[in-house]
Order: sequence, then C-alpha cells, then structure tokens
Amino acid sequence: MLTEETEHQHIRLLPQVLANQIAAGEVVERPASVLKELIENAIDAGASFIKIELEQAGSSVIRVIDNGKGIPKEELHLALNRHATSKITNLEDLEKIQTLGFRGEALASIASVSRFSLTSKPKDQEIAWQVKAKGSNMDTMLTPSNLPEGTQVEVLDLFYNTPARRKFLKAERTELGHLELCVKRLALSTFNVGFRLTHNGKEILSLNPANSMAQKEHRIKKVCSEAFIQSAWYIDTNIADMKLSGWLAAPTFSRSQNDLQYFYVNGRLVRDKIINHAIKQAFKDVLYQGRHPAFVLFFNLDPTKVDVNVHPTKHEIRFRESRQVHDFVFRIINQTLADIRPEGVIEKIQESELAQDFSQPQSFVQTPINMVDDYISPTTSLNNEYTDTIKPFNPSYTKEPETDYKTEEGYHQHITDKTQLERSNDQKIPPLGYAIAQLKGIYILAENEKGLIIVDMHAAHERILYEQLKKTFHTAIQNKTIPNTQSLLVPYTISLEPELIEAVEKHHTTLNQLGFSIEVIGPNAIAVRAIPAMLQNSDIICLVTAMLEDFSCMERSDKIEARINQILATISCHTAVRANEKLSVEEMNLILRQIEQTERGGQCNHGRPTWIYRSLKELDSLFKRGQ
Ligand code: ADP
Ligand code: MG
Repeated sequence: MLTEETEHQHIRLLPQVLANQIAAGEVVERPASVLKELIENAIDAGASFIKIELEQAGSSVIRVIDNGKGIPKEELHLALNRHATSKITNLEDLEKIQTLGFRGEALASIASVSRFSLTSKPKDQEIAWQVKAKGSNMDTMLTPSNLPEGTQVEVLDLFYNTPARRKFLKAERTELGHLELCVKRLALSTFNVGFRLTHNGKEILSLNPANSMAQKEHRIKKVCSEAFIQSAWYIDTNIADMKLSGWLAAPTFSRSQNDLQYFYVNGRLVRDKIINHAIKQAFKDVLYQGRHPAFVLFFNLDPTKVDVNVHPTKHEIRFRESRQVHDFVFRIINQTLADIRPEGVIEKIQESELAQDFSQPQSFVQTPINMVDDYISPTTSLNNEYTDTIKPFNPSYTKEPETDYKTEEGYHQHITDKTQLERSNDQKIPPLGYAIAQLKGIYILAENEKGLIIVDMHAAHERILYEQLKKTFHTAIQNKTIPNTQSLLVPYTISLEPELIEAVEKHHTTLNQLGFSIEVIGPNAIAVRAIPAMLQNSDIICLVTAMLEDFSCMERSDKIEARINQILATISCHTAVRANEKLSVEEMNLILRQIEQTERGGQCNHGRPTWIYRSLKELDSLFKRGQ
C-alpha cells in the first residue's frame, strides 16, 4: 500500500555518457568486440590496408589505422553521437544493407567506456582533425592533427570508468586470442584488404591484400593452417540468386572442436542454426563420431532475403526463406563431398609436395584422423605444426642419382617384375594403382605411379556397399518397386528376443520393400525366405538380426525413409569383407577400382579413412634417400 512517505522517483533523462555506457553493455563486451567494430568501420570506409596496434591485449591500447575515405572535419563530432551513421538513411536502406555497420552506436558506446580519440583526413581535406569526447554530455573537442589520408581510432584504458566490466576481463592470453581471432575472421572475408597486427610492438599477423586465387589460398593457409588448405576443396556454385563459394575440407581432415568453421552470409560472419544443420546433414555419414568439419565458406544472396538486424553484435541473422537456403547449402556440400575422388586427392598431394620441404615427415590429405588435430593456438606460429622433426642429414653430401621412376619410361622399367602392373603398359595407371599384397588380412597394399597406397579393406568395402545399397534402395522406393530378390531354397530360421519379433511385425512392409521376405513362425522365431539378391553372399543371420535391432530402436514417430540409410549402413557393415578374409589379387584390384568410382569413397560410413597414400618422395625422405 502506498503511503505519503513513499519517496517518488522522478523520471529524468540519463546523462549522455551513462546512456551510452548502457548501450555499450550490448556491443562492447571485451577488447575484441571493440576491435571488431573498428575494423568493420575501416572496411566500410573502403580501406585497402588496416593496421592494428594493441598493447596489453587491448586493455591499455587498441589503435586502428586505415587508408579509407576518412571523415570530413565538420562530421567528426557526429561520428561520436549515438544513432549517427552515414550508412543508412531510411528503412529500405536497412533492408538491402551492404555495409557491415548500420546501427550508428559503436563509436559512441566505445567512447563512453574508454579514453577515446578519432583522427581523420579525407583525401581532399588539407589537414587531419581529431575529435575527443569530454564530460557527462560527451561534448566534443576538435583539434588539428597529423595523419596521412585515412582514419585512426585510438581506444585507451578500456573500461577505466566501468570497473565492473574491467573485472570481467580474462587473462591477457585469452583476450589476445579473442583479438587475434577477430582479425582473422574479418581477414577471411575481405581478401582485398591487407592487415597488419602487432601486440606490444611485436608483429603477430601480417597479410597482404589477396586478389589472385594463389594469394587467397596463401591467406587461408596463414589463417587456417597449411593442413587445412591442403585438404580443402574449392566450391563455387550459384543457382538463381544464391551463391556458395569457398573452401571445404575433406572429411578426413576433421577437428575435435568446431573452431575451424567460418561461414559468411553476405560478407558477415554468422552462426546460424539453419546453416549448421544443413552442413551437419551433408557430413552425416562421412564424419567420424564427435568430429567437426572445417570450412571457410561464403554464402551470398539477395540482401532483402536476409534480416541482419536481429542482434546488436550482428552475429545472428534471419533468412526469409530458410527451407530454400537449407536445401541449397546441403545440396552443394553433399555433392562436393560425394565427388571427392582418389584421383583428385592424389593430385592435390602431389601439388603440395612440389612446394614441400621433405626434410620433415609430413602428413597429407588422406591422413589418420588424430594427426591433424592439434589446436592451432592463436598465439603460436601457424606454420610449425609438425614439430617432431627428424633432422636432415648434412645436405653437403653428394646426392645419389635420383631413381628414375618419375618418367613414364623409368617407371615401367621399375615395375617390370610386377605382373599386376604389366597390363598397364599401354593404359593409364589408375589413381589407386594395383594391389601387390594383403597385409595381415586387414590392409591391401597397392602401388601407383608415384607411391604406396594402403587400403583398409573392410572400411573400403563397407563404403562401396553402402553407396550401392543407397542407390538401389532409394531408386526402388522412389519407383515403388522392389529390388531384385533371391529366394532361399532352405529358409534361415532364427530365434530372437520378443522385441525383435515385434519389429518384424511392425515393419513388415518396409522389410518387403527392401527385398526381404521374413515370416514370424513362432513366439521366438522367424524364417527368412528371401533376401535382396545383392546380399546373397552375406552372413544372413547376423545381418537380419542387426537390421531388426536397428528397426526396434526406432521411435514410432521416426519416418522409415529418413532412417533407411542407417539400416543400409548396418547392412553394409555386416556384409563387407571381414578381417582375415583372404582376398585374391583380382578381388583386391576390384576393391581399388570400385573405391575410385564410389561417391564419398575416401571414408567408411563411420568416417574412418578407407585409404592412405605415401608418395615415394615421402618414403625416400623417411629413409633419407637422396639427402
Ligand atoms: P555505424 O558503423 O553503424 O555507422 P559507428 O558508430 O561504427 O556506426 O560509426 C559511425 C560513423 O562514423 C559511420 O557511419 C561512418 O560514417 C563514420 N566512421 C567510423 N569509422 C570510420 C572510418 N574508419 N573511416 C571512415 N568513416 C568512419
Ligand atoms: Mg560501425
């Protein structure tokens, strides 16, 4: 109950600086968020080079200097006003926004929580002018200054007047990591701009403007690591007004964290649920459990079809036609992964070998998963990932004459005693070469023109079968037909748990559709009377049991079609050659030829690599030949 004594709180306007500090709460969380706003402004101003100087991880100095178009003297004071922007004038502008900034509040917010100065000189202005904000109304003070064409923003003692915020700053190393990541994120989307980043006077990143493809890939290598660019496939596809381009790492280069995922929508880095889902879906059966894909991708679409004004830091967006976007991204990535073939992979390895120093053991595109996993710490050099070096012998030794397997003639001479390779005298040697042996009943060893191929025969066969099954069954389901079946003269009788019997009854139609004829012949028993013809050589009891287990795990609500791939994966795993199965040379060669033709052939259904390649050059270096 209100009494006379209740103190009345008058409504009053907040002092300008306080209002700005409150707004700063949204955008200025830490030094890296300041840096992001300043670099974005420099990019929006058309700069071709941006210099960033930091001290004490940005808490004492953040200085950004650009050579962009600058701010005229008479507008300088406005730049510090909240809601002052040169980038939009009306709502329609916002709907087709092309610049990174548009809210007009970054500089005002930053200025309210630091000792701030803005210096600028447009091309046709004689001298530079500097503006600073003072007092609780943030009155501006203009002074003449010294600066070549462009703009310099200096942010000193960030959060000096908001101690609560300052307390939340993390250790210098952490903040520096965020700052560096911020520069990298922006550098990946603006290739035409050069960047130089220093910390306490020491250079940590230097990137020249990149215009050609080679220069762009060089930047990617510097920012994302050499291993990434070596296993990355370039995409560039557009359909109607949507375009996806950039670099996608093959699934065999995956990471334990999602830290190498850069997705830009109209030049803006975002994390978006729709996009994430589309990518995850595309990587579904090529990625090892718990692993994350790596990519630097640029998605461009009509700006009116995306709402960027959803979040103050603009990390979130909203698509107007999200279904379309999802399908587009999924389709392109899925197809790119499906199309990766040994031929291309080996070509890439050879290309990168040309540029390699072979005094160190290398790991390449087809590499055991854990070898490419080292987290690239933002503050360590990006280029020395493989530091367990074997020191090269003194190079002053006279070099051994190089083995002549590099020329076609030399190669054929080199392999004359290899019967399997003789047939290739008049035809091109296939990418995965020809089998020479089976190792321990697990691996196929093969040689091609330039080196050794090792194939995990079960993993490879599993992928081959899986892709065949998918094709057969999805076509059958689409055409409402049943794949070729094989009736069994003597049906298999299998005794099963009640849940599995129930699964037979519940999924009878689907089983028929898949080409199985299975009948319940007792409370604990079924009879398998027919199977899909292509499975006739498999262990039917194991296979049917595993398949029914899959069925019985499904929720009632699960759409069978959506889960069919899982069933097919189980089938292929159970049908593929097992360890210790002796394979003839012909059978091994068949697996090699099939893997070359199979979509997503580089990894099994569980994302393990199916084959790896070691070039003679690399083997030579291991044996110190020619060094
Ligand atoms: P926004 O970027 O949303 O417009 P800001 O507060 O970041 O808002 O910047 C306010 C205005 O100051 C910008 O609209 C722009 O006109 C000007 N400005 C800021 N930084 C620069 C810069 N580096 N070069 C040229 N103009 C700049
Ligand atoms: Mg801005």
